[in-house]
Amino acid sequence: MLDTTPFLVGTERPFRLADHDPAARIGFEGGKHEGRSALGAMTTRLAELQRHLWAEGQRAVLVVLQAMDTGGKDGTIRHVFSGVNPQGVRVWSFGAPTELELAHDYLWRVHLRTPERGTITIFNRSHYEDVIVVRVRGLVPEERWARRFEHIRQFERMLADEGTVIVKVFINISKEEQRVRLQKRLDDPEKRWKFRRGDLDDRRLWDPFQTAYEEAVTQTSTEYAPWYVVPGDRKWYRNLVVSSILVRTLEQMDPRLPPPEPGLDDVVVQ
Ligand code: AMP
Ligand code: MG
Repeated sequence: MLDTTPFLVGTERPFRLADHDPAARIGFEGGKHEGRSALGAMTTRLAELQRHLWAEGQRAVLVVLQAMDTGGKDGTIRHVFSGVNPQGVRVWSFGAPTELELAHDYLWRVHLRTPERGTITIFNRSHYEDVIVVRVRGLVPEERWARRFEHIRQFERMLADEGTVIVKVFINISKEEQRVRLQKRLDDPEKRWKFRRGDLDDRRLWDPFQTAYEEAVTQTSTEYAPWYVVPGDRKWYRNLVVSSILVRTLEQMDPRLPPPEPGLDDVVVQ
């Protein structure tokens, strides 16, 4: 399995995106073809670990996925979880908040969707939008979003204390790779529906977004809810890294099958 420590931010400070190459291919000798077959083995292993997590029924896993537009959140989810029993996995995508969501605090909609014991939940965007897009677009004043780092640390601490293992992944693409992907989105009739003019507005704000990500990661990468920064320019490598992070996390959790009812050895089904 790939060594995932180069991608772990952990409590390293200060965190700088400049230290993380979006095109890196660390710890893997092969190319796309080998990468895809290695991913196959990882998805099988993830499925097995997830079955044990479910059987154990004591703990949960929350995967937070963040990236710039076209960063590959959807593709990562599709590939990394392709082998896992859909009954044990949920995906929640967080877009701009609805009126009802805005009538509550920003963590309300998030807490509603945290995983049940025995399951894995993937957040496609998350409460981190409330310190990133909200900050970059000036949707709430600084004195409000700046306090949120502390809320988020405490919220995640509570989830972790109560049995949810949290893994946060920032998929790191380069600005040039985003240009290529956005252009493809425009040119490909199968993809054009995904394109929004607003994506170009966000692209113009690339640098403020990067700064907001750097601060969010710096402020919220903890031992109990660490951030990983995953090179995103090569899709196959990104998938391999994210699946390795999840397999390693679940292996460390080491979910155990519950003991069977006693005295079953002599039971024969007639
Ligand atoms: P997509 O993931 O492409 O469907 O886009 C979802 C959009 O919702 C992105 O532009 C996000 O920045 C935006 N979004 C998500 N959460 C929030 C939030 N809390 N406040 C404002 N915009 C958000
Ligand atoms: Mg979009």
